[in-house]
Amino acid sequence: MQYENYIGGRWTGRNFTTNVNPSDTNDEIGMYASADADDTNSAIESAVAAQSIWRAYPPSERISVLRNIGNALLARKDELGAALSREEGKPVREGIAEAGRAGNTFHYYASAIEHAQGETYSSALPKTLIQTRRNPVGTVGIITPWNFPLAIPAWKIAPALAYGNTVVFKPAELVPSSAWALTKIISEAGLPDGVFNMVMGSGSVVGKAITTSSRLNAVTFTGSSFVGAEIAADCISHGAKRIQAEMGGKNSLVVLDDADLTIAVEAIIDGAFKSTGQRCTATSRVISTPQMYPRLVEQLSARIPTLKVGDALDPSTDIGPLASQQQLNQVRKYVELGVSEGAELIAGGHEIRSASPGFYFEPTLFAGGHSQMRINQEEIFGPVVCLIEAPDVDSAIALANDTQYGLAAGIITDSQRSIERFLDSADAGMLHVNRSTANTELHVPFGGNKSSSYGPREQGTAARDFFTSTSTIYSTTGTD
Ligand code: NAP
Ligand code: MG
Repeated sequence: MQYENYIGGRWTGRNFTTNVNPSDTNDEIGMYASADADDTNSAIESAVAAQSIWRAYPPSERISVLRNIGNALLARKDELGAALSREEGKPVREGIAEAGRAGNTFHYYASAIEHAQGETYSSALPKTLIQTRRNPVGTVGIITPWNFPLAIPAWKIAPALAYGNTVVFKPAELVPSSAWALTKIISEAGLPDGVFNMVMGSGSVVGKAITTSSRLNAVTFTGSSFVGAEIAADCISHGAKRIQAEMGGKNSLVVLDDADLTIAVEAIIDGAFKSTGQRCTATSRVISTPQMYPRLVEQLSARIPTLKVGDALDPSTDIGPLASQQQLNQVRKYVELGVSEGAELIAGGHEIRSASPGFYFEPTLFAGGHSQMRINQEEIFGPVVCLIEAPDVDSAIALANDTQYGLAAGIITDSQRSIERFLDSADAGMLHVNRSTANTELHVPFGGNKSSSYGPREQGTAARDFFTSTSTIYSTTGTD
């Protein structure tokens, strides 16, 4: 079947390409349109034209559209989650949880806009009142990665629409089916034509047309730091668009001698291997003090081989395939690099040949490496975790910051003093105590420091800062 783009309230498409299942590349999911720059520009013009209509919609009607989208996502989460897992490769229970989260995100923003959106101040002048008011930023380009094909689009699209913006959404080329399913639901929710547009296609064509358009007011991007830097530069040099970029991570988990070993092992397994390690918040550096370090090596080397790698749609699967051949190649390259850098391969390290052709790789543990090795500095984005030994608590906490990234970091310890020291010095946007670095909630700020983020935080009430602009209003009340 052929699936089209959604532009100005119409389905339209050309240049169809086949999307395959990473658990079984013989399984073809569908044929998806690939937009060109002209298609993208028509989507942008449609969104610009619909701006004045949508911003004038009463909030109660915007709320009802968002609730319709949220309800449809929640009612169909099992089916949408399974389709997501078939396309992206994460185990089906994770796919279903993600579809549910996307639904809840639309409901969250439906409620959020019921709250007061402005403030009142006193003035130094007599009979004068100062107020602030939040206006939509305007027309927003949304560019998303493939690793959360429903949750990330939802956490950008929902606040964009809620705060009165119109949207041009470009999903990652690898996951058009999830984007199309979400778009179908949005198209049936009661929006005026042109308020929401979806253009599938490559970053270099569709993405570039968005970031270099001077007709858009803002671009929100999630993806790699390399692409994010180019996007930010394009946005600034083409119309000085507002930009928000959530990018890569190289997240450290510190495990101290006094840690609960069971909590530590479970946090590492969850953080490193859930979603096949393809999470921006995945744990990839475990920094441990001398008593705990050998115990972690022993426990993890026994536990990791028991994890079942397999088809994402098999409910007994712990770890699905990587999302693409390119991802598999990247992981293989980093494992070879780790060995050549002198790290010790403790578990895994190999591609898995299965009955159905898919991009399977063993969950992998390195030990004996040091922080400056490339495998401990660069984002691998796969099921690979490296143990680094630190001589004492202070150096372990200091090493947690020893990367260019600053998305998430965590500590496992029973010592309140060590927790305080960690919280005071960890340079990351999301900090976790006695839990995995990887799990976040939708109603609180999300984002990172250093090369991991640029611009305001996402999610929760933080999203409002990006999707609105503030007017400050000075009123003189009566002159008699
Ligand atoms: P990516 O390669 O940077 O791509 C992200 C998006 O940008 C895709 O839609 C891509 O299109 C598009 N794109 C690529 N080049 C572009 C260009 N020159 N101009 C405009 N758009 C362009 O990232 P990915 O491989 O999809 O995802 C993995 C990365 O995302 C990892 O680094 C991960 O850490 C990061 N991530 C970060 C967060 C966070 O919140 N911090 C969350 C999830 C993922 P095509 O791929 O379709 O060509
Ligand atoms: Mg990429």
